Amino acid sequence: MENKKELGNWLNNMELAHPLVIAGPCSAETEDQVLKIAHQLKDTDATVLRAGIWKPRTRPGNFEGVGALGLKWLQKAKEETGMMTTTEVANANHVDLALKHDIDILWIGARTTVSPFIVQEIADALKGTDKTVLIKNPVNPDLALWLGAVERFYEADVKNLGVIHRGFSTYEKTRYRNNPEWQIPIDLQHRFPDLPLILDPSHIAGRRDIIFDLCQTALDLNYDGLMVETHFDPDNAWSDAKQQITPETLDQMTVDLRIRVEEGDAVEFQNKLATARTKIDVVDHQLIEIMGKRMKISDEIGALKKKNNVAILQTKRWNEILGKMILQGEEQQLSEEFILKVFKAIHQESISHQEMMYKK
Ligand code: PEP
Ligand code: MN
Repeated sequence: MENKKELGNWLNNMELAHPLVIAGPCSAETEDQVLKIAHQLKDTDATVLRAGIWKPRTRPGNFEGVGALGLKWLQKAKEETGMMTTTEVANANHVDLALKHDIDILWIGARTTVSPFIVQEIADALKGTDKTVLIKNPVNPDLALWLGAVERFYEADVKNLGVIHRGFSTYEKTRYRNNPEWQIPIDLQHRFPDLPLILDPSHIAGRRDIIFDLCQTALDLNYDGLMVETHFDPDNAWSDAKQQITPETLDQMTVDLRIRVEEGDAVEFQNKLATARTKIDVVDHQLIEIMGKRMKISDEIGALKKKNNVAILQTKRWNEILGKMILQGEEQQLSEEFILKVFKAIHQESISHQEMMYKK
């Protein structure tokens, strides 16, 4: 796929304020719930109402969505509020039903993007449509797989396309439900600058308190839109309760977010700067995590030393570590002075941890 200019035309044609804001509950629960949320959202910056009708759940036994019935609720919400509507489709039958109910934008879920067979089935079912299709990143951090899905739609003559960044799963527990891995959407943006890129902070965060910061980072990186899970009673939502925010919070958030307005060279400069800074943020975050990991291992050693009554400070071992690190640092253009400072600080922190353990 070349960088086809028309890919982003749907967004320009909508003549909506930047960024595009899609909001609504994780799942449609009842008709009243969908209508109530739609009415609360219609006076905010959100112009598209989202609600999951068929819910892919990691394990069986959880709420799996109300099914086709919910499409009627979305249709009614559209009639009453004038908002556009969007839902997830995961097979050809869903596509058929969604089109019959005049859903404006269809999104492809993260668990679907991983499967070329099912993506192809959906692309075939949508052949030549003028509806907009937004493709979430696959659950695994694989840019080629994500782009492969975009290509399948493009080749099926679906030209109103966009992508949604919803983060990537990891086995390790981090502060995120799904790691953002910002470098992946940044790479995608470099390769296809005209493909609209939307952030789904809700599934990245898995919690409410970091949604704002994620949105700000995305806007600083020049994303084109946000898709935020929104519910009038988040704690009692039938799915993804921890990560949903109220329409009022969303409204305040869009007021508080800094949105870029510059054009031309200034944009170019700001974008490059923001991209580089975000890369730094990503690496800093990894540094903290790796130092935390090191400290946990050091605590294990501390426990062993205590049990066996061995002195905390082992000078020979420490000098060996330093020698190796100085050599490795040279390969990365890091001065001996810097390596000594950093490792002395790390070592001191380990010793303090171990000393505390001895006192216990
Ligand atoms: C959703 O948007 O509610 C959803 C299920 O998302 P994802 O496919 O990103 O998990
Ligand atoms: Mn959800």
